Amino acid sequence: MTHARIDFQRLQQDIQDLSAIGRDADRGIHRMAFSEGDLAGRRWFKERILAADLDFHEDGAANLHGRLDWDGSRPSVMMGSHLDTVPGGGPLDGALGVLVGLEVLRTVKESGITLRHPLEVVNFTDEEGRFGGLFGSQAMAGQLSPAQVHNARDLDGISLTEAMAAWGLDANAALFARRSKESIHAYLEMHIEQGPVLDRGDISVGVVEAITGLFKWEVQLKGQTNHAGTTPMDMRNDTFQGLAEFAGEIDRILEEHGSPHSRATIGRVELRPGAANTVPGHTTFSLDVRDTDPDTLKGLSDAFRRTLSTMARRRGLMFEFEVLSELPPQRCDPGLVQLLSDKADALGFHHLRMPSGAAHDAQIMSCIARTGMVFVPSLEGRSHSPAEWTNWEDIERGANLMLQAVLSLAAQDTETLR
Ligand SMILES: [Zn+2]
Repeated sequence: MTHARIDFQRLQQDIQDLSAIGRDADRGIHRMAFSEGDLAGRRWFKERILAADLDFHEDGAANLHGRLDWDGSRPSVMMGSHLDTVPGGGPLDGALGVLVGLEVLRTVKESGITLRHPLEVVNFTDEEGRFGGLFGSQAMAGQLSPAQVHNARDLDGISLTEAMAAWGLDANAALFARRSKESIHAYLEMHIEQGPVLDRGDISVGVVEAITGLFKWEVQLKGQTNHAGTTPMDMRNDTFQGLAEFAGEIDRILEEHGSPHSRATIGRVELRPGAANTVPGHTTFSLDVRDTDPDTLKGLSDAFRRTLSTMARRRGLMFEFEVLSELPPQRCDPGLVQLLSDKADALGFHHLRMPSGAAHDAQIMSCIARTGMVFVPSLEGRSHSPAEWTNWEDIERGANLMLQAVLSLAAQDTETLR
C-alpha cells in the first residue's frame, strides 16, 4: 500500500462540483451554516458517501460522518474539516479537507485492503461562525453547554435553535454528539494555509506543529470632548492620541514579550463624536493578539494591560476593556508531526514545519484526540474570497500525504501508541 495513490481526477471533479454549490454571480460561495447553500452542499456530500458505498451517519450536532469499518470495536482514524463557508468565500477553505478525507476512504476501500482501525471522514457543522464557530467540533469534544446552545444567534438575531428547527433538527441534540477519547485513534485535518508563507517559499506542504491561541478585547478610552480650536494642546484628554500612543507600542511589546509567531492587530476603531473640528472624547477599538504558546500569550496580555494603564494615566483618560473571546493555543501531537514529516520525505515533497495562525476544528479535536494537520499553499495567501486557490499539483501532493499517514496510523496497534 505504500505505493497507493488517491484518484486525483475524481478528487478534482469533486472539488469542481462542490464549488458550484452556493456560488453567486460574483463567484463568491455562500454556504453559511444552515443556509440554503449549506443544505445543498450537505445533500451532495451525503450522496457522495452513499455512492462510494461507505456508512453514513449524522450526529446530534448535524456533523456528517462517512465511515469505512472492518471491526467496529476499534477506535477510528478520523479526518475532517467543514463544508460551510463565510459569505462570499472561496472553493477550498474547509471543503478541501472534507473532500480529501472522502477520497482517502474511497481509495482504501477500492484497494481491498483490511486495516486494523476504521476510517472516518467528518464534515463539522458551523466552523466558520454564523452561530459562533467551531460548533460541530465543540459538540464532538463535549465542550458545549445547554446555555451556549440556547443563546447562539447569528448577526440577524436568528437563533441556532430556530435555524436547526427549520431543518427538522433539535439543537439540544448537539449535547449528545460527544465522542469519547477511546473512540478516536487519531485526528488528521488537511487545510489550505490561508497565509502567504508556503506560496512565497515555493513549498508544497506544511506540517503544522501548533495552532495559535488568541485573545480579543474591545477597549474603550474615555476622555473629554472639546472644541478643536479653543482647547490648548496641553489641556486635552484626547482619546485618539491615547490610542495612537498605545498602537505605537505594539512593536515594542511584541519584541519584549512575544515570539516570532506573535501577532497583534487593531482592526476596528470608532472615534466619537467623530467630527473633524472636535477633540474625540471617546474611542472604542478592538485588539486581537495571537501566539502558539500559552505562557507567551499570557505575557502579552499582561504587557498590553500595563501599557494601556500607563498611557491612560499619563493622558488623564479612563479605560475599560471587555474580553470578547479567548482560545488557548494547542500543540499538534509530536508523534503525528514526525509521521507527517517522514511521509512527506518518503514521497519526496518539499515541506515546512510551521504554526497555524488561524483557528480550525483540529484545535478543538486536539482536546480529545492526538491531532495532526497538513497545510497546502494558498496562492498569494488569499482566502475567505473567491480568489482563494491552490495549485492542483499541491492539492494532489497534500492528499497523497494524508493517504500515506492514514494508512500508517490505521495499520498500527492501539496499544503500542498509548
Ligand atoms: Zn477553514
